[in-house]
Amino acid sequence: MTQHELTEDRSADTNAPDVYAAEPIPEGARAEIDRLLASGDLFRYTASEAAPVALLETEFADYMGAKYALAVSSCSAALFLSLKALDLPAGAKVLIPAFTFAAVPSAVVHAGCVPVLVEVGQSLRIDLDDFGRKLTDDIAAVLISHMRGHTSDMDAIMAACTARSIPLIEDAAHSLGTLWSGCKIGTIGKIGCFSFQSYKMVNGGEGGMLITDDPEIAARAVIMSGAYEHNWKKHKGLQNSYANWQNRLPLYNMRMQNLSAAVIRPQIPEIDARVAAGRRNHDYVAERLNQSPWIEVPPALPQEVRAPDSLQFNLIGVESDAQALAFQAAAAERGIALQIFGLAPDNARAFWNWQFLGAAPDLPLTRAMLMRACDLRLPTRLTQADLDSITLALLESAAKTLGAA
Ligand SMILES: *Cc1c(COP(=O)(O)O)cnc(C)c1O
Repeated sequence: MTQHELTEDRSADTNAPDVYAAEPIPEGARAEIDRLLASGDLFRYTASEAAPVALLETEFADYMGAKYALAVSSCSAALFLSLKALDLPAGAKVLIPAFTFAAVPSAVVHAGCVPVLVEVGQSLRIDLDDFGRKLTDDIAAVLISHMRGHTSDMDAIMAACTARSIPLIEDAAHSLGTLWSGCKIGTIGKIGCFSFQSYKMVNGGEGGMLITDDPEIAARAVIMSGAYEHNWKKHKGLQNSYANWQNRLPLYNMRMQNLSAAVIRPQIPEIDARVAAGRRNHDYVAERLNQSPWIEVPPALPQEVRAPDSLQFNLIGVESDAQALAFQAAAAERGIALQIFGLAPDNARAFWNWQFLGAAPDLPLTRAMLMRACDLRLPTRLTQADLDSITLALLESAAKTLGAA
């Protein structure tokens, strides 16, 4: 079922909270958009300085505590440019989690590399035994997706990567605002990538950001993103590095335009409040759902302070797919549109649907998890009454459909 079909299914209970509707964009965006429409100044490199995209880059870098930030058209573009900026040889192997969004293996393929999928078990985090087994000498880079904001053990992963001098890219598309031992997620690896697609913490419709402290990586990514001729002079950083790469790298033209930056910039100061609200909502619902014998919300790791805008839980002791689908249908009848990753046809987060990779590898842990893991959007704007109504509907649906087992 697609998200659209799930939304349509809500007709059963029109009082249920709508978890798909977007929030209004902060009022502050309006004047800036009007100004841009009046001047027609939409291209980031037209103005000699202080273009909205350039200002967003500075503000985002400051927020993250990163040296360099590059705004691009999507997180997928940021992931692709990250791999290209690492200058990996053609056919290089890149470790990625087997539980991620199809855009991630796609970016790896697009960059001319070969993804190697690592198991993700019921904790929704990278299985460290499988990671250790697969981190062989021929792995050129590791790309960790903090999928749905669940942070894998970054201490163990960083230690293993550092010991082998393997660069680590963080796909933090869904982790803006998450902390790991007090450190902002996306700043642990060599490169961090973020998304401003509408279902993420900051809604720009589409958009992405790449951050790094490495001036050479920044320079290479900036040029390949489409800073042709001397447009790199409008980026902060070591101008020598840019001059050095001038004309030596292909241009992929994945730039962000000013209107997107105008929509995104006023949301940056709101991130911390959204993160706090998201975490409060998530933890409130999680605590209550965990009282059900059939539902388990994976806990955060001790080092992790999450920034959730969605909630995932495993169905426990549910033997048959039919029973899991009956639970989903009962929830839908109550107006709660949830997805069971592996039971939704063509779900983009189920690795066996990534047919562009060839035959699906054998990943029993990930497969078992996907067949019983439920995915529910939990936007930070939900009210206490919304949360109570969602919780009650899920608990009653579970009791009704799973209790008879
Ligand atoms: C949304 C998402 C992406 C893709 O982001 P886009 O900006 O849509 O390209 C990649 N990885 C994860 C984990 C995501 O949630």
